[in-house]
Amino acid sequence: MIALEVTPSGGVSQRLLRFILLFSLCFTLLASAVQMYFEYQREMSNIASRLELIRNGYQASIERSVWDLNRNQLEVQLQGLVDFPDITWVRLSSNDFNITHGSKLELESVQVDQFPLSFQVENQAPRALGTLEVGIDIAAVHRRLVASGLTNLLWMGLFICGLAITLSWLFYRLVTRHLLAMAEFSRKLAKGQWQQPLQLDKTLNSVEDEIDAVARALDEMRQAIVEDRRRSEADRITLQGKKDELLRMVERRTASLYRAKEEAEAANLAKSRFLATMSHELRTPLNGILGMAELLHEATVGELPQRRLGALQKAGEGLLALLNDLLDFATLDSGEARASSVEFGLRELCEQVFTLLEPNAHANHNRLQLTIDPRLHSNCVGPEQFIRQVLTNLLANAIKYTEHGRVHLHVELLGWEDGNQRLGFAVEDNGIGIPEAIQTHIFERFVQADERVGGAGLGLAICKHLVELMGGEITLQSREGEGSRFYFELCLPITRQALSEPANSQPAQSIASLHVLVVEDVEINREVAQGLLEREGHRVTMVDDVVPALEACQRHLFDMILLDEHLPGGSGIGVCQQMRQDPQGLNQNTPIYAFTASLQPAMVQRYLDAGMRGVIAKPVQLPGLRQALADVAQCKPAGPDQAALDSHVLETHQQLLGNKKLEHLLALLQTSLQQADGLLDALAVLDYPEIVAHSHRLASSSQSLGARHLADTLHTIEAAAEREDGPACTTAREPLRLLLQHTAAAVSAARNKLMDL
Ligand code: ADP
Repeated sequence: MIALEVTPSGGVSQRLLRFILLFSLCFTLLASAVQMYFEYQREMSNIASRLELIRNGYQASIERSVWDLNRNQLEVQLQGLVDFPDITWVRLSSNDFNITHGSKLELESVQVDQFPLSFQVENQAPRALGTLEVGIDIAAVHRRLVASGLTNLLWMGLFICGLAITLSWLFYRLVTRHLLAMAEFSRKLAKGQWQQPLQLDKTLNSVEDEIDAVARALDEMRQAIVEDRRRSEADRITLQGKKDELLRMVERRTASLYRAKEEAEAANLAKSRFLATMSHELRTPLNGILGMAELLHEATVGELPQRRLGALQKAGEGLLALLNDLLDFATLDSGEARASSVEFGLRELCEQVFTLLEPNAHANHNRLQLTIDPRLHSNCVGPEQFIRQVLTNLLANAIKYTEHGRVHLHVELLGWEDGNQRLGFAVEDNGIGIPEAIQTHIFERFVQADERVGGAGLGLAICKHLVELMGGEITLQSREGEGSRFYFELCLPITRQALSEPANSQPAQSIASLHVLVVEDVEINREVAQGLLEREGHRVTMVDDVVPALEACQRHLFDMILLDEHLPGGSGIGVCQQMRQDPQGLNQNTPIYAFTASLQPAMVQRYLDAGMRGVIAKPVQLPGLRQALADVAQCKPAGPDQAALDSHVLETHQQLLGNKKLEHLLALLQTSLQQADGLLDALAVLDYPEIVAHSHRLASSSQSLGARHLADTLHTIEAAAEREDGPACTTAREPLRLLLQHTAAAVSAARNKLMDL
């Protein structure tokens, strides 16, 4: 790209002018030098021809005059020579004459030519007469040359300057000013002044010259730009129109999507409410059936009734599982389904599923076969419910679509991964099989190979979801008319504890007897809960609504509370929050479990947020209940009614002092306990003298009323403070706080008891 900069001071015309002048000067100098050279040659040849003329025309007459001694003649002749141009003087030197004519000049500027003179008389030898010297003025020749050279130089210079100026002016007129006009035009184009065409101050010839061609090209470019802009403007307007239309469309769609979303959310809410209600409504009677069956189990004797009861229980549990499946199905899609990990016996699980499905197998004349790899460990930890459901679904299908055949569940140990066993589960049958065309999407919802057979087409979709949730993948091999094989693999950790016993035959472990408050409005549920808890050896207080529950909690310290969510006078969550927020309440820290059939993940989260420790799902299942009881018993500090106050000491005081006096003493102790915050503060800042004083005082009053555990703890803290043992004091603070609470609760319970008497 050539950057053309046209400025008035350094314009092309001026540059052209400078070039012409320089060139002309050089040329003029050269020409003048050549011309002077030729002039010089001409002058020198003139001088030579004059000398030749003297030699040929004058020399003989001068020799004659010298021979004749004719001085006058000689004078005239010599004067004639001096009159020749450029001859400045002549001198004749002979024996008789010495004549000089003309003015003598400096030798440097004069060229001297000598002519020897002689005369010959007839028949005699020539006789030398003397010398004629001619002085020629060379300086004059030089001056003439210089003058003519300078004159030439001057004229040529003048001529060339004139020519150069004229040429430059012409160049400016013809080219430069048009170039400047075109540059200005381009600048205007760049500024966006497209409309004005290019006009040059020049008459148009019939034949277009180069300037016209460039100007025309520029103007065509302008017209192309104008056209292009017109087109883009038109496109822009069209595009803007389309964009506006699109925006309106997006707005319309957004609005309708928003409406659809709100409708969907409303529908979803309605669905959740429906599910919650159905869940509650279905589980409540089921709770009754299962609970009663559980209670009857113990009372019933005889193998057949026991087996029938077992089958009833299994059927109920199956129904419960099915109900759970249906209710959970909505959450499967949204990814909310969670697999709770429990300890279970894999062999027992398989056997239970088989027992449950036995009647169906009989009805279809199928033979059920269970093969469990003897190498595998039956006691596993994992999502038992999910595995049970997947196996039940697959086996139920296999039985359903097979007649007079064989259904085989094969569980195989494939290997070990990080201490977990990798198990392969295969459910095989030799039934009707599944057509190849359907096999690829058989795990999709509502897909059925044969719609004449009952079913919703959900079972396999649920299986696929559940197996994937457990980290596996379910596959199918089938041939129409020959049978099917469903297969998946799972990785399950094992437990060390043996779970070979049926879960509901005996308590899993013996735990301390607990005092449990059950808050439940439905009578049958109350009876079931009471029956189960008492059978497990626990003390139960039953209430049916919010107010009696709160009253009971003011009077007694419970080890555990089972709280129904839906109560006539309010919600379980509300009751729990009230208890947790009451610092004076006896049961502020008592473990509370939601005793409910509303098990949606969002609800469970709300129970936990309200301060509950967990959920005991209705219909109540003994393993879950036992687990919760064991957890509570394990975490329970020395119970107020067991260790916080020594009952023997209290009984002795009661006998010696009487109820009133003892109650008064207990009230004093309760006040001291409630004022023990000072001790806790002192422990927090390690104020040793304060700790010693407080703990000593409180220890002696606790000791005298049988709060031995507290007294021992206070003595230990007192000793630590005396040693100024900071870490021991700091670690003792939190257990002491809990112990103070429990002792206060025990004191309060003992007072209530005394007051009731
Ligand atoms: P359904 O409630 O219809 O049984 P599933 O999702 O459990 O729904 O099964 C989907 C379809 O897959 C069934 O309708 C049946 O056609 C086919 N199917 C499932 N298991 C088998 C099997 N073991 N043998 C033959 N067909 C089967």
